[in-house]
Amino acid sequence: MSYIKKEKIEEIKEKADIISVVSDYLSVKKSGRYYMGNCPFHSEKTPSFFLYPETNTFHCFGCGKHGDSISFVMELESLDYVSALKKLAEKFGIELEYENSFNYIDKKNLDKYYEMNEFVARFYYKKMMENSVPKQYLLKRGINQKSINLFLLVMLMKIGKLFIMS
Ligand SMILES: [Zn+2]
Repeated sequence: MSYIKKEKIEEIKEKADIISVVSDYLSVKKSGRYYMGNCPFHSEKTPSFFLYPETNTFHCFGCGKHGDSISFVMELESLDYVSALKKLAEKFGIELEYENSFNYIDKKNLDKYYEMNEFVARFYYKKMMENSVPKQYLLKRGINQKSINLFLLVMLMKIGKLFIMS
């Protein structure tokens, strides 16, 4: 699982100019410090849909819809959050960068995850050794006890912890 980097999301929020985004879907007129147009979320003849360049947000005084470029695209195009981000990134020439879920985990909590992983690995190893069916299956596939131990060892080394099989 990979996620769009937080910095990139911030960059999209900053660069996805609400006027430019909304102008792709409806015509807006400048009115003082704001822009206004007919709301795309409800039917109206007099514009009550306002765009605020300073905060990069929109607000409709008719139906109360409110948000930024991302929520505007999500709502109007029926897109999920990530798809809306991708669409905006493309429009504004922002190259997306991803990080995997591992980097997303709070580093302070890593030990807890290691412990959980080790616990689960030990649990299944024990269960497997207690029951002859999976063991017979593995042996039939040519995987011997040494390989099973080695695999668990490699798995635990991979997550950064090494322990001696009891
Ligand atoms: Zn509205």
